[in-house]
Amino acid sequence: MTDLTKLSAAALADKLAAREVSSVEATQAHLDRIAAVDADVHAFLHVNEHALDVAADIDRRRAAGDDLGPLAGVPLAIKDVLVTTDMPSTSGSKILEGYMSPYDATVVSRSRAAGLVPLGKTNMDEFAMGSSTEHSAYGPTRNPWDLTRIPGGSGGGSAAAVAAFEAPLALGSDTGGSIRQPAHVTGTVGIKPTYGGVSRYGAIALASSLDQVGPVTRTVLDAGLLHDVIGGHDPHDSTSLAHDWPSFAAAAREGASGQGLKGLKVGVIRELPDSGFQAGVSESFRAALAAMEAQGAEIVEISAPHFEYGVAAYYLILPAEASSNLAKFDSVRFGLRVDVPGGTVEDVMAKTRDAGFGDEVKRRIILGTYALSAGYYDAYYGSAQKVRTLIQRDFAEAFAQVDVIATPSAPTTAFRLGEKIDDPLQMYLNDVTTIPANLAGVPGISIPSGLAAEDGLPVGIQFLAPAHEDARLYRVGAALEALLVDSWGGPILDRAPALGANGGVR
Ligand code: GLN
Repeated sequence: MTDLTKLSAAALADKLAAREVSSVEATQAHLDRIAAVDADVHAFLHVNEHALDVAADIDRRRAAGDDLGPLAGVPLAIKDVLVTTDMPSTSGSKILEGYMSPYDATVVSRSRAAGLVPLGKTNMDEFAMGSSTEHSAYGPTRNPWDLTRIPGGSGGGSAAAVAAFEAPLALGSDTGGSIRQPAHVTGTVGIKPTYGGVSRYGAIALASSLDQVGPVTRTVLDAGLLHDVIGGHDPHDSTSLAHDWPSFAAAAREGASGQGLKGLKVGVIRELPDSGFQAGVSESFRAALAAMEAQGAEIVEISAPHFEYGVAAYYLILPAEASSNLAKFDSVRFGLRVDVPGGTVEDVMAKTRDAGFGDEVKRRIILGTYALSAGYYDAYYGSAQKVRTLIQRDFAEAFAQVDVIATPSAPTTAFRLGEKIDDPLQMYLNDVTTIPANLAGVPGISIPSGLAAEDGLPVGIQFLAPAHEDARLYRVGAALEALLVDSWGGPILDRAPALGANGGVR
């Protein structure tokens, strides 16, 4: 029998539908893989002790002839920012250690309704603040390509779980790149949908005007299949769009069948500095563009002069919103409480927040509170919002000329654990290419474009499209993926040295 953990979700779903394998077998194979490798990778904060029961139930329903969705019986890893009734939800923070939610996030309830089998909750930077998963209160996740390196962040756990074949599918959240940058450094696929395209109900808020939930997978088609399950209007989320979305899986299939590149206008940003980008990242990016050009795509230089100010604006807007969102962790309503005998309510609150929040969270709360304070509001928060508007205008002008914009998904390949943890600014600069999409609300995808020559580590190419045009990203992403996988002679994860042919990670 083929190793069930090596199959794409689409291929596994086909075998399940044909009753060649049961969901119990598929789930057990992934639990075995987690048991074998997760002590090294540490992608999971919690493994679902009920996963096999859920799988058995799906198998029973299939045997009874129930009408099951296309992904029924396929295991799913869930980023710990998404609340679940049957597993703790910590958002990577000590302040929520052991917290049990009374309700499921909409993306979780939709996944359950579609018959997906929740495998567990994945590790992340605390409250999704970070680009390396080193800010998790529960210890870092390691990159399956090289265990001394970061898996990206904040959703390093979801990306590593998928890259290490511990799960075929995962859910992530992307506020400034937390789906796309981990995809870039782990050789996986990640999509940040159009703002409002996927419900944020039950996603523990970081910055409400930027947060989006999306799929983390090994193929573009798998991402489309999962997006079809989780997306669409949700009355529980007031920012959820009432839009008639097409099938993203269908768009991916169209792209893979050779439609999608001919006549496509691909914008490349003139102002994006070459400096700061690792040579192998730029080379892989240019090679991917050349491959698209050879298939009839047209590469067009566009101007997006405010793109590079995104990081500065984001690191004012995000802390401002985060400081307000995190005020609810007050020692009374959720999670941790540190008692102060004889102390006031303020003493208890202060001690609890001091003990429960890590350094990066405290740094951003202080920054956000400062940026929002009277006297500084216009100078900082107000200016950042103006930059946000200018970036939105850049996008509008660019998309009048091109169908998609392409950039490298991040400036470097996976850096070493510990390399940037003491230098927040260097960590923040890693987000230069992913942040503008969140500021403008447009969708973005990262797919593997190859390996950097100097270190043999994965590189991602990012495509951005106008709001509502997520399907275009699936079409283009799947078309390029088909070309590249063909030229590599197989999926890029087959070339990860640390993944080991014998099932180990080393
Ligand atoms: N790295 C970015 C940050 O630290 C992105 C976080 C995210 O998308 N959740 O804010």
